[in-house]
This record gives sequence, C-alpha cells and structure tokens, in this order.
Amino acid sequence: MEKFIPYGRHFIDGDDIKAVVDVLRSDFITQGPKIKEFEEALADYCGAKYAVCFNSGTSALHAAYFALGLQEGDEFITTPISFVATANAGLYLGARPVFCDIEEDTGNIKSDLIEEKISPRTKLISVVHYAGHPVDVQKVREVADRCGLKVVEDACHALGALYKGEKIGSCKYSDATVFSFHPVKHITTIEGGAVLTNGENVYKKLLMFRNHGITKSPEDMLSASHGSWYYEMQFLGYNYRFSDVQAALGLSQLKKLPFFVEKRREIASLYNEAFRNSPYFYIPVEKDYATSSYHIYVIRLKDKFVERKREIFERLRAWRLGVQVHYIPIYLHPYYQSLGYHRGLCPVAEDFYERAITLPLFPSMKKEEISYVVKTVHEVFNEFAV
Ligand SMILES: *Cc1c(COP(=O)(O)O)cnc(C)c1O
Repeated sequence: MEKFIPYGRHFIDGDDIKAVVDVLRSDFITQGPKIKEFEEALADYCGAKYAVCFNSGTSALHAAYFALGLQEGDEFITTPISFVATANAGLYLGARPVFCDIEEDTGNIKSDLIEEKISPRTKLISVVHYAGHPVDVQKVREVADRCGLKVVEDACHALGALYKGEKIGSCKYSDATVFSFHPVKHITTIEGGAVLTNGENVYKKLLMFRNHGITKSPEDMLSASHGSWYYEMQFLGYNYRFSDVQAALGLSQLKKLPFFVEKRREIASLYNEAFRNSPYFYIPVEKDYATSSYHIYVIRLKDKFVERKREIFERLRAWRLGVQVHYIPIYLHPYYQSLGYHRGLCPVAEDFYERAITLPLFPSMKKEEISYVVKTVHEVFNEFAV
C-alpha cells in the first residue's frame, strides 16, 4: 500500500457531477428551485416537518441556537468532546457554554450529569451524537422538560443513524437537529449544513436568519406594505445562504445515503471483528437504543498504552494511516482557557482524549485498504507490546 489512507473521504460519482453540471447550465445557480427540493427530501428522509439549509454546519448551529432564543447572558449545556463549532455557535450569540462530562464508552454527554449543571441562566442543552452513535436523547428531553429548556441535537456525525429505531433528525425529542455536509461527513454539498425542526415559528426564524433577518411573507410583516416590492428586515441576520448548485449535489448524494451508511457499518463490523479481543485498546460500543452511522471509528487505548499514545500515533502515521484524534476537549483550547475554563473540569472527557485514536473509515474504502489498516494496526501495536 503506497498511498496515504485518510481518516475520511467524500464519495462523488458521475451522477453527482451530472446533477451539478445540469444546474450550472440552468437559469438559477443560487436561490432557485433546488434548495427547497433538497430541504424537502432531507426533512422527508429524517421524518421531520421542516429543513432549512445553510452554507455550513456551523452557520446552521448558529441559526438553530438563535431561533430557539439563545441570547446574551444565557448559558447552554454541551459536551467538550466535539468540534469547536458546537460551543462557538453559542459564543457568537453572547451565551456561555457550560461543559458537562461524558460517558467513557460512547464519548457522548452523560445525561445523569446534566441537571447539576443547570442554573437560572440555562436556556438550552446541545448534545452531540459523537462518532454517529446517538445520545440517549429521550433522557435529555426529560431533564429539559423538567427545567423548561430547549434541546438541540448537533447531529453532524449522525445523518443516517437511528435512535430507538427512528431516524436522527426526526426531532422527536429535540427542538432542532443540525447536520453538516462537509466532505468528511455522510453526504457532502462541498460546504453546507441544515437545521431540521417540527416548529413552524422556529422554521420561519431560521429562514430569516439565513438572509439578514429579512422576510418577504405578507402575513409576517410588522409594517404596512409599500407595494409589491416590499420586504422587511426584522432582526440582524446574516448571509448564510445555500446555493442551488450545492442543493443539486445534496439531492444526488442523499439518494446514496443508505448505501453510505451500510458501507460504513460494514467496515466498522470488519474492524470490530478484527480488534474485538485486542489487549491494547477498546473498540467502539453500540448501545441497545442506538444504531450508529459510524461517522468515525474511534479506538480507546487501555491503561498501559495511554502514556505511549503519541508514539503509537506517529508510528501509525509513518505507515501511512491517516489516523486522527477526535477531539481535544473544547475548553482546553487557548481561547477557551482565556475565557476562564480550567483543566480538570470534565475528567472523563480529558481521559477520553488521552486514549482516543480515529482509524480511517469511509464508504469508498477498498478491500485492500481495509485489510491494510487491520494489518498495520496489529503490527504497530505488537511492536509496543513489550
Ligand atoms: C463538522 C461538524 C460541525 C461543523 O460543521 P461545518 O460544516 O464544518 O461548519 C459541527 N459540529 C460537529 C460535531 C461536526 O462534526
């Protein structure tokens, strides 16, 4: 195996390219009919009423938090084991993230610990379905209902995953669910994201937030119309718009999603089989309420090997495995340290970070690549056994 095998990779074929080229040759390359079509297909797939697309998963998170009323001075509870966007999106609104520790096996927020983090300022709980394994979100909903809070699912890892047999994105237990269509995620629109919701008012706010806080719907106007050209800006939104070209790619990718998820689960189960009895590390778990869509495959080093993670990682890289680490606990980044968060805040998350290594996993992986990963992982760890 000569080539570097990345941890994740997009899958684009001739149908995708044709869909994009067709739109490039059409009357609309942005703000045309494809956006709505993709949004409806996505809402349909997930079993939610509404979907609104954005130009990134991050802007989708920003919009979701805004639409649910997060504002200056509020707090929101979230996990430190995520991409920084989950917390940053709340900072954009002047709210403070309160980090809650995680479960050591799934890497997901530990729902039993959420309640003690709630203060009079808490407005919402934002959970992350880490690696594609759903959070026990019904439990989170129960806490939220008791305390009058909103629930957001950052499902950027979990398109195609099931929770208690239902699709992530149905928003059965949440007020909004957010996806990303970055090329390493389950489907790609190059850059892009979406918010799903069942709330009509949330939906309207999302649409306006995407376009400067502007509405063109006569029934929503605050002032009398000046004429048929009239539109109103009612709050400060952004240009977070999605394009028809991206939507066309999304529609074409969405058709392949069942295949993508199946492939990811197949590779995960090959890895599970190969590494089940590893004396060196733990393999991912799958709880009885969850069907993971395996955005990433994360192994966790056993005690004796934690100290040597850096060497092991570099060795795997030297053998051209594009291993990664997901994630540095968000509050350990210098910017968050400057906001007053301290090491030791979430000990399980910090320990998880010390152990976690992400192995390559993506739908277009070839048989030889999968067996090369298995063989190389075995060999490298055996070197470290003595
Ligand atoms: C990818 C990702 C995001 C951000 O998505 P972008 O499309 O890159 O802005 C947010 N949260 C999580 C958990 C992600 O994995």
